[in-house]
Amino acid sequence: MPLKVNFGGTVPFSTIDWRGKASMVIFLRGCPLRCIYCHNYKLLEDPNYVEQEEIEAEILKNVGFIDAVVISGGEPFMQPHAIEAIAEFVKKRSLFVAVQTNGFYPAVVEAMLKKNLINKIFLDVKAPLSDETLYEKLTKVAGVAERVKNTLAVCIRAGVDLELVTTVFKNLVGTEEVKRIAKEIEEAGVANCSYVIQQGRPELVPERVIADEDEFSREELKELAAGAYHAAGLKKVRIRIRTREHGEEAV
Ligand code: SF4
Repeated sequence: MPLKVNFGGTVPFSTIDWRGKASMVIFLRGCPLRCIYCHNYKLLEDPNYVEQEEIEAEILKNVGFIDAVVISGGEPFMQPHAIEAIAEFVKKRSLFVAVQTNGFYPAVVEAMLKKNLINKIFLDVKAPLSDETLYEKLTKVAGVAERVKNTLAVCIRAGVDLELVTTVFKNLVGTEEVKRIAKEIEEAGVANCSYVIQQGRPELVPERVIADEDEFSREELKELAAGAYHAAGLKKVRIRIRTREHGEEAV
């Protein structure tokens, strides 16, 4: 039976989703979380099932211009068969594959990594992994932090190229939380990993529930990142910031 994919659209060419690579981004719809600051909330409801071939046709339009395909969402690991089919198709064309995930499905991630179809995982660490209360406040779902912790452990065991991402807003996830996250990921035993602190953007948040004043400026983010770097004594983690104005920068 042909595979149906709950599909959210594509960005045909991106140089910001995977640093150093020209990528096509494929969005899969649906997510088990309901983050209060979700920038992709239009992908959470209203399914849009298409044949897998439709996505393959989109990829073929871009094959000559890209090095990689990034599968994003929503939460892509809700549809492991879709990831597998897309990744197999992409690998046959000698392109790299990455998946952006919220870490909610550690067992699925583990099974997929064993198939050797994914080159890189971008994992959201939305709050300290020891803080289920804050995780629940952010995602509206209980028990998420433990799952993300397990996904991080799975990725470390598999040795997959890993990038961790935290979106920050003042009065929600800020200086103290980022320090704790940095310490936790260093202690988790990552071998060689980037940690990106991403400027949360109130204008992209549904119903503007986060005030404009809660956005960190670039200078504030630099300070926050430097503080986390020193407080956590990072050795194996490279820290970066991502802002609207300047994109990604090493700190
Ligand atoms: S995990 Fe990502 S896509 Fe899902 S609700 Fe949260 S921010 Fe939105």
